[in-house]
Order: sequence, then structure tokens, then C-alpha cells
Amino acid sequence: MDLTLSAAQLDLQARARAYVVDHLQPNEAAFERAGGRLPAATRDELKRAAIEARLHGGSFPRELGGQGWTVLEQVIVHEQLGQATGGLWSFIPGGYNALVHADVAQRSRYLEPSLRGERFGSYAITEPSAGSDARALEATAVRDAATGEYVLNGEKWFVTGPPDETDFMIFHCLVGDPSLATDEDPQPTLFLVDYDTPGVALKHDPDYTHTFADRHPQFVLADVRVPASAILGGIGRADELTNEWFVEERIHIGARCAGAMQRLLALAVDWATSRVQFGQRIYDFQGVSFPLADSAADAAAARLLTREAAALADGGADPKVVHAKASLAKLFASEAAWRCADRVVQVFGGRGYMREFPAERYLRELRVDRIWEGTSEIQRLIVARALEKRGVGRVVG
Ligand SMILES: Cc1cc2nc3c(=O)[nH]c(=O)nc-3n(C[C@H](O)[C@H](O)[C@H](O)COP(=O)(O)OP(=O)(O)OC[C@H]3O[C@@H](n4cnc5c(N)ncnc54)[C@H](O)[C@@H]3O)c2cc1C
Repeated sequence: MDLTLSAAQLDLQARARAYVVDHLQPNEAAFERAGGRLPAATRDELKRAAIEARLHGGSFPRELGGQGWTVLEQVIVHEQLGQATGGLWSFIPGGYNALVHADVAQRSRYLEPSLRGERFGSYAITEPSAGSDARALEATAVRDAATGEYVLNGEKWFVTGPPDETDFMIFHCLVGDPSLATDEDPQPTLFLVDYDTPGVALKHDPDYTHTFADRHPQFVLADVRVPASAILGGIGRADELTNEWFVEERIHIGARCAGAMQRLLALAVDWATSRVQFGQRIYDFQGVSFPLADSAADAAAARLLTREAAALADGGADPKVVHAKASLAKLFASEAAWRCADRVVQVFGGRGYMREFPAERYLRELRVDRIWEGTSEIQRLIVARALEKRGVGRVVG
């Protein structure tokens, strides 16, 4: 497999790098001090600069207003985004890949404004009793035969998106309409729901370990009425569309973790080669440099695994193998990034524990990559099943 980047891909990488260095990193410290809020003018500037750098809507086809990037190109960009703390890349206009299934009316109402940075969506799957086990989902949509509307009910947790920006959700629920009954009923289905629809209530907006551009509130939907035109992708397609999202985002997480490790290492090497204790550079103590060598091995392996998963997806490999490779990449990269952040905090000593230093922020922020989009245990389950069903050679070869 040839992973050499073309001239156009190197240009994309450089544009993403410049955006991170010129626009995201300079806002990190103030964002942290402000408890995770940016003024509207700064948010608008981040959106504007992303559009100017042609970094918005990366995964969407050009005919839908996106950039039409391959998965490998998405990875190249996410490697750079991972070099900013605070999840500030969330302000880059874009959307969940399920929106590629939007019909013409849904495109003009949700996708196009999202790609202009005027609207932001969230993806509401998790519920109080359904986390790793999506089969336990209880949210429902029942068709009102009199009006043709659907009546939505359910409670959703961790509904992620930037506050003051996010104004609609993709609601994953079960359609239980007797008139559509099939052997598979109830049917997992996605609905597009505006936050200002009557019956949509923000129940709780907790703080989390990280200070992030996104908040992760809990919503209750009680007898929310939406037209049939709010169905995204067709009745019964939620599991398939959500799975497409998981595979794409697991690869993105792997790429951002690889990028985070690269920045952590660069900071640590700069520091350790200039910091003097006991009359010599601390880098010359193997107790300092060896953990950094281990981190370099972690970072390089994470990057390769992630790029390989992306290249397989682009090459039209068996989707089940791509699924396993995405899990492998996410599992390794997220666990490695956590190890790497912990080592780098140690290399910085007391400074590593100060929020104004990136290493401290990374230590808090990288923790969630082992939890969201499927915990490390769930990734292991996927990999273990693939080893048995697809064969060891196709998973590790
Ligand atoms: C900051 C943040 C943002 C999030 N954003 C979103 C979002 O935008 N949309 C959304 O829908 N969800 C979101 N989530 C939810 C996230 O995907 C879930 O938290 C995750 O899938 C785990 O589910 P859970 O928290 O219910 O834990 P549980 O499923 O209850 O798991 C608890 C523990 O049990 C382990 N476990 C469970 N089953 C098994 C098993 N079969 N074998 C071994 N171990 C197992 C898990 O690995 C974990 O360690 C977010 C979560 C966080 C923290």
C-alpha cells in the first residue's frame, strides 16, 4: 500500500497546518481561562478563516458544497486538527456524514447552512439506559395517522455540539408505526429535529473533565411532532447510517490522537533539551528521554494504522475489514495518546500540571477518546470478533 502524499495532499496538509497554527492555537489559552467559551466574534472569525482555507465540509461531495476529500485526505487534516487543544476545530463548518443522505429540502434547510457555518447539528444516540449497547435504545417515533406527523419521545445524553451555535439534532429512535409493520418492526430511524420544536427540552448541561468547544447536554423530547419530511435517509436506516458515522469518526479520532502525540512530543523535546537540572539537560537523563522514545513509537504507529484504515476505505476494501481496521486504529491511537500525554506531563514536571501549558490540557482532553464513539472495550470486542470472522491475516495484515 502506497501512502505517499500527492502534491495536492501536501498542499491540503499545509493549509490545515496553517489554520491550526494561525487561528486555533493562539486562542487555546484564553479559551481555557474563559472556561470553554469564545466570544461570538472569535467564533465567526474561526468559521470565516476555515472557509477561506477551504477546510469546511471536507467529507461532503463537491456537488453538495463540500470539499470531496478522500478518507485519507480527511485523516491528513484531522492529524493537524489534533494539534490544537480545546476541540476548537468544532467551529469549522461541516456536518455529520449522515447528512449526505439528506433530500433536496433537507439539504437547503440543514446541510447547506451547516457548510456556511450558520447552523450546527448534533447526533443524539446515547440514552440513560443505552450506551455501549445500542440495542437497548428506547426513544420512539409513532406516526399519527390523522396528520401524518411523527410523535417523538425519548431522553438523549451527551448531545454534543458547540453551545450558542448548535440548533438541530439527528435523533436516533425506533419507529413503531403499526401501519408500516414488518417482521423487523420497530425500525431504527433518524429524524432531523430543530431544538426550538415544541417539546424539545434541555434537561441538564453538565461540566466534563475537558474544557471543550462542544458541550454535551442531556435532552428530553416529549411528544415532539415532526413531519414525515424530517426522516433522514428513510425509515429503518438508522443503524446503517450511524455505523457509517462511527467508522468515519473512529478514523478521525485516530488521526487527531496521532496529531496530538506529535505536538506533545515536539513540546517535550524542546523543553527537555533546554531545561537544565543537576548541571545538564534533562533530555540527557534516560529517565526523561526514553519515555519520549516510547511516545515516538506510539505516535508513528498510530499515524500509520490510521492512514492504513483510511486508504483501505478509499480503495473499496470489504467494509467489515474497514470497520475492524477503524476500531484497531481508534483503540491503539487513543490508548497511546493517553500514555503519551501522561509521559509528557511528567517530563514538564510542575509546569505539566498547569492549565496554561498544552500538556496539562491534553491530559484531560485525550481521556475521552478512550470512551466516545465506542469505548476501548467495545473496540476490542469488534477487533476480537473480526479476528475470528475475517481471519487474523485480514485484520493485522
Ligand atoms: C464527552 C462525551 C461526548 C459524547 N458525545 C456523544 C454524542 O454526541 N452522541 C451520542 O449519542 N453519544 C455521545 N457520547 C456517549 C458515548 O458514546 C458513550 O458514553 C459511550 O459509548 C459509552 O457508553 P456509556 O457511557 O453508557 O457507558 P456504558 O455502556 O454503560 O459502559 C460502562 C463501562 O462498561 C464497559 N462495557 C460495556 N459493555 C461492555 C462489554 N460488552 N464488554 C466489555 N466492557 C463493556 C464500557 O467499556 C465502559 O467501561 C459522548 C460521551 C462523552 C463522555
